[in-house]
Amino acid sequence: MADHYEVLGVSRDASQDEIKKAYRRLARQLHPDVNPGDDASERFKLVTHAYDVLSDEESRRRYDMGGDDNGGFGAGGFGGFGDIFETFFGAAGGGRSARPRSRRERGQDALVRVDLDLGDVVFGAHRDIEVDTAVLCETCQGSCCQEGTSPVTCDICGGSGHVQRQVRSLLGNVVTSQPCGTCEGYGTTIPYPCATCAGQGRVRSRRTVSLDIPAGVETGLRLQLPGSGEVGKAGGPNGDLYVEVSVASHATFSREGDDLLATLEVAMTDAVLGTETTIDGLDGPVDLEIRPGVQSGDVLTIKGRGITPLRGTQRGDLRVGVQVLTPTKLDSAQRRLIEDFAKKAKAPKPQLAQFQQGLFSKLRDRFRGH
Ligand code: ZN
Repeated sequence: MADHYEVLGVSRDASQDEIKKAYRRLARQLHPDVNPGDDASERFKLVTHAYDVLSDEESRRRYDMGGDDNGGFGAGGFGGFGDIFETFFGAAGGGRSARPRSRRERGQDALVRVDLDLGDVVFGAHRDIEVDTAVLCETCQGSCCQEGTSPVTCDICGGSGHVQRQVRSLLGNVVTSQPCGTCEGYGTTIPYPCATCAGQGRVRSRRTVSLDIPAGVETGLRLQLPGSGEVGKAGGPNGDLYVEVSVASHATFSREGDDLLATLEVAMTDAVLGTETTIDGLDGPVDLEIRPGVQSGDVLTIKGRGITPLRGTQRGDLRVGVQVLTPTKLDSAQRRLIEDFAKKAKAPKPQLAQFQQGLFSKLRDRFRGH
């Protein structure tokens, strides 16, 4: 096994900067793309591996102390307690369970937000949403390799994905295993990566997802679309797509459970005499009958004109709290009429009654933004 410092052509006390420069120079010279041929390719791997070991302070320190990272059983050294710990308590498994890891990984979940208004919530809504995720690379179909090429067994770890080294310790000679730095633990390397995806097996892409949002959703709710998230590395399975809904507040209607709430302002004369009227509901016109003598705070309930629940089909109600409007500008003729009415009606004096914390006061507070 060649000495890593010799391979890079630097002295044992070379700085990180010198190591990096030496590696760059050799890599340019030996890279398989510019210099095809077995010999150059072999040397390129050696150079890359030497750089991997020496460019990391910790692995360089261990190398300097004599711990060979390539299963060279001759070189001894004291690896410190971390290694002994790993060996006895399982992190690296002492090589027993050393198996290469798969290039294929499950893709990440993706999250998009969609804005709705309250009307969308009543019946549900359809949206085409733009999603920006990783998708399978069409060129290599997730193989990560240029056409006609395939991954090759890693020369450094022999395809196991792990390298072993022996450490002489207080407890005797122990063998530790760690992921191979050359193939990153995959057991294979890709000599000719797919140019489209740079050897990742996937590319980013924008696409449109057609989505049916059920009725009854509320702000913060996340709909899960299994398998519509990011495709995994090297053609691994997709993650899920989550769609988080945000429902804008409405100028007139608010929501309580599956019910819709609003305030109905009624002129004093209509409140006294009663009337019929039509209001604009979220789902079209609603006929209302206001009985004579209706009071501020009375609630008119229109069955089945609220929100379709997320689970179920029975729509909630529309509840309308009455607020009687007292006339504020009377001309002299109107004033005389009211005075005349007051004399004849013998209205009671203002009097105290129990404070009412009813639905209407809640509605009113909400309406005023309290
Ligand atoms: Zn590709």
